[in-house]
Amino acid sequence: MGVRRSVFTVLDVGQGNSTVIEAGRTVAIIDTGNGGSLLAYLHQRDIRQIDHLILSHHDNDHTGAALALLADYSRFRVRHLYYNAEQSRTSDTYATLVRVAEEAELRTGMRLDSLVRGKRVSFAGVTLRILHPSQGRVARGGGKRFANRHSMVVRVELENTERALALLPGDCDWVGLRQLRQYCARRHIDPSARILVFPHHGSGSCAGDNVSRYVDEWIALTHAEVVLFSFARSPSDREMFPAREVLTRSSAQGCAVLCTQLANSCQAEAPSRQPQHVRGNHQRPQHQLPCAGTMVFDLRSGVLIQPAIESHSAYVHLMAKPACLTNEDTGRPARWKALNQ
Ligand SMILES: [Zn+2]
Ligand SMILES: [Zn+2]
Repeated sequence: MGVRRSVFTVLDVGQGNSTVIEAGRTVAIIDTGNGGSLLAYLHQRDIRQIDHLILSHHDNDHTGAALALLADYSRFRVRHLYYNAEQSRTSDTYATLVRVAEEAELRTGMRLDSLVRGKRVSFAGVTLRILHPSQGRVARGGGKRFANRHSMVVRVELENTERALALLPGDCDWVGLRQLRQYCARRHIDPSARILVFPHHGSGSCAGDNVSRYVDEWIALTHAEVVLFSFARSPSDREMFPAREVLTRSSAQGCAVLCTQLANSCQAEAPSRQPQHVRGNHQRPQHQLPCAGTMVFDLRSGVLIQPAIESHSAYVHLMAKPACLTNEDTGRPARWKALNQ
């Protein structure tokens, strides 16, 4: 194996989240999505050892593919698995995951830990700092309905760089956001980051009673320049991820906005031509359609490597009213300059 690149990748996993950090030879994954996208990516990159695997919370769209990763000893070796100890909403997948993790612990010596705020995971000049949830909340249990509230929030920090690269809030809702903000203020912790992967796939349902204010609060907290949305394009009769208001508000706040998939709330009709800038490595259900697809950033500079912004821009301009461009953006997406800097 030659020299590894250092990149931060937000995978198009369809519905869900999965982020891969490659720092030289060290690999960390935060959430796995559900389905084959992460595994396909790891095969493609010839990654066999995962040094750190963090699962933000127990919903399948964040942890589903962890099972295959942990159980396939012939292909993958997970050295350290970190989970969320908040237990009030678990699934069949979670029960299986616990069993598979225990087996991996015995067979391969994999280490198993839970994470709460205040803890960090450091490797190769990168620190993953956990900002949420608190130990007290985890101990008390959140109640089945509010498992998203106690999703881990992870800040991706880089050595010798003042500005953190990214904030990954999983599915954290408006109450979780309030707790996060209070914690950071009380402890004088800087939660800012260049890239915000917007929580809960941009849904409006976890925003409380004022969606715009909720978006404003996340952007004010992080000072994000780039806001990413990870979700599957939904059939029109289902709840839509993300809400159009969340997309347009993020853009109106001056952020460059990119989506893994073409949101139904952004464009209901499929555009006349397939996106040229997305390499078709993953098979998807029929209604799904990538927009920016999988996004790869240089780990140190935060500059977007893939997709090529010009061809993505050309694709977006096929649409009547793309939510990632506000009215002032005429022919050229000025905000997207931030992606190259
Ligand atoms: Zn989710
Ligand atoms: Zn969730």
